[in-house]
Amino acid sequence: MKACQAIRKDGTPCRGIPGKDGYCIGHRPGAAAARARGGQNSSKRARLARRLDPRLVPICELLAEAIVDCYSGNLRPAALSAMAAAASALTRITESIELEARISALEGKEEMCHWKAESKNWKR
Ligand SMILES: [Zn+2]
Repeated sequence: MKACQAIRKDGTPCRGIPGKDGYCIGHRPGAAAARARGGQNSSKRARLARRLDPRLVPICELLAEAIVDCYSGNLRPAALSAMAAAASALTRITESIELEARISALEGKEEMCHWKAESKNWKR
């Protein structure tokens, strides 16, 4: 089976699965430019960014890039694994911070309700 005709950063030939142009998805001409642009105008990306914690957007993009690099043989699977584990830990931390903030906000509202109820009783 033929492999991608590009040379990896370490000087060894890429083992990625080539497309019709002879290059894998990571080495296809224009792939680097497309990665650099990051598809900033794509609606998919905009939708994702709205739902995702803004602090996690660059991590998500980095991870997507790493997946392509690993697929094309430019990143060791162990490195991708470590990156994925770190991203997962970061996500859990961010989620727990957000959850804590939401609970605090709810507790604040509840306190306000008690206060309003008590002040009504006091007026009577
Ligand atoms: Zn390649």
